[in-house]
Amino acid sequence: MQIGQMEVEAVAEKARKKKKDVVLRGSLYTMRRKCGKENCRCADGDPHETPALSYWVRGKPKLLTLRPEDVPVVKGGIEAYRRQKAELDERSERDVAALKAELEQRRASGGGRK
Ligand SMILES: [Zn+2]
Repeated sequence: MQIGQMEVEAVAEKARKKKKDVVLRGSLYTMRRKCGKENCRCADGDPHETPALSYWVRGKPKLLTLRPEDVPVVKGGIEAYRRQKAELDERSERDVAALKAELEQRRASGGGRK
């Protein structure tokens, strides 16, 4: 047991980076287009497909085109966002319910004001 805490943290950080632990609010989108060349396969209705991340910044839609190898990381990031948002929403619901219960109790025991 010679590994110091600093080293442990450095290793953990490296692992996080390698896994590309990202959180992305958006959705995966497949761009389909024709390149315009007459003899290309896309002229016969087999369009070129490019993966992209669609997201919003201050109410404006944005599209970030991706390389195929980015797709797994982006999917993971979108999933991580959904999961964490769901957890946060649940926590908020519980806390609002607790606050409401506390206020009602205080009102009941305090008496008088309605
Ligand atoms: Zn084409």
